This record gives sequence, structure tokens and C-alpha cells, in this order.
Amino acid sequence: MSDDTLIRVEGLTRWYGERLAVDGVGFELRRGQVLGFLGPNGAGKSTTMQMITGNLAPSAGRVEISGIDLLERPREAKARLGYLPETPPLYRELTVDEYLTHCARLRRLPRRRIREAVARARERCGLADVGRRLIGNLSKGYRQRVGIAQAILHEPDVVILDEPTVGLDPIQIIEIRRLIGELGRDHSVILSTHILAEVQSICTHVQIIRDGRLVYAAAMAELGERAAARTLRVRLRR
Ligand code: ATP
Repeated sequence: MSDDTLIRVEGLTRWYGERLAVDGVGFELRRGQVLGFLGPNGAGKSTTMQMITGNLAPSAGRVEISGIDLLERPREAKARLGYLPETPPLYRELTVDEYLTHCARLRRLPRRRIREAVARARERCGLADVGRRLIGNLSKGYRQRVGIAQAILHEPDVVILDEPTVGLDPIQIIEIRRLIGELGRDHSVILSTHILAEVQSICTHVQIIRDGRLVYAAAMAELGERAAARTLRVRLRR
């Protein structure tokens, strides 16, 4: 593995009973890349993200994070990752600061660093003024910012975002995409999405997954729209 390989996935496979949801997925994420993991609903994106983040056991295959085997040394491997799941568990009755402080403790950040880490994550995610607001009173776009803030609290090498703009209104989508673009300057990112335009506007590289299998991989500049549309089985809207 070369030094700048942050994630290496080999033969990742997951059965749900009789259903094969992810079938031998393998790829590498290198430092500085913003990788779009693109596929239609039900293609196996969330299942793959959950296995890479150690939240779901694979049926077969392996994941290495910064050279550390996820199954052998899960705590060390997971410490290098930040993760925003498709449906993040936000505690609506907590303030933004209380929630981020709670997450920092779960991440075992040293006590003396927590206040600074929370302030920095808030600042970076456009939450500077809402530290004392209840999460339950925030708009969905702001709640998604809180979810991204918890993912970067511990300054991970890689940030994994699963469908971060689903359910947001058009303005919120623009803002969250801009935020992800900014994150990509400091972190390597995997962005799981079913939206081709999202990948085109943010990502440096793309992998397309369909029916549990990777069917296309390229640097963004090489992704032809028609090829992508054909692979995704979507119609291009003009
Ligand atoms: P979406 O964007 O709709 O979430 P996805 O690409 O993330 O889609 P997955 O959620 O990984 O896809 O699902 C892949 C396949 O596995 C789908 O056919 C789905 O129905 C199935 N699946 C996912 N989770 C489970 C589960 N817990 N039990 C059984 N089948 C599941």
C-alpha cells in the first residue's frame, strides 16, 4: 500500500439473509481525494459505508484504514474516520454545544482539548452562532451541519458522508455541498450519493455502484455524462 492510501477495501461482501447487497467491492481512497460513491437507491451504498466505518460486519472481505486492519484493530482504525450516517442519531433535546461535547467525549478527546475542538468544528461548519440552540429547534440544513461537525471533531484523515443532502431544500443543498467542498481541502472524503450533479460539483474521483457491484471508476475529469447516466440508468435532464 502506498503511503498516501488512506482506505483500502478488498472483496467487501454483505449478505442479508438470501439477498446479496454488496458483492466483492474493492477500491482505494488516496490522500486529497474527494471520492463520489455514486449509485441508485438500493445499490448497496449505505451497506458499504457501514462496513467501511465498522458499524456493520462484512460477510467477506477486508478494510484497511491508514494501513490498520479494521477487523483486527477496530478502535485504532475507527479513530482515523469521521462518519455522517444516512440517518444520524441527533439528540434533539441537547444544545449544539452539549451534543458536540458529548460526541467529543465518546471520541475520547482529552478533556483540555474538547472545548477548543467543539468551537473549531462549529466554526468550520457555519455553526458559530448556534452553540446554545437546541438541536430540535434547528432547520434540517443546520442539523445536517451539526452531523458534519461531529464527524470532523477529532480531525480524522477521512470523512465519510452518506447521502448528506437527502431531504434538504434547494438552498440547504447548495450550502451543504459548499461545506463538503471546503472539507475536501483538509480531509479526504467519501461522499455516498445517488445524485450525479452532486458528484460532478464536488468530487475529484468517482466510483459507480449498481446491484452491489462497482461498475465504473474514474477521475472526475474522465466521467462522461452519458456513460454515467447509462450506468446509473437515469435520464439526463436538460
Ligand atoms: P438507499 O440510497 O436507498 O439507502 P443504498 O444504495 O444505500 O440505497 P443499501 O441501503 O445499502 O443501498 O441497500 C442495498 C440492498 O440491501 C437493498 O436491496 C436493500 O433493500 C437491502 N438491505 C439494506 N439493509 C437491509 C437489511 N437490514 N436487511 C435486509 N436487506 C437490507
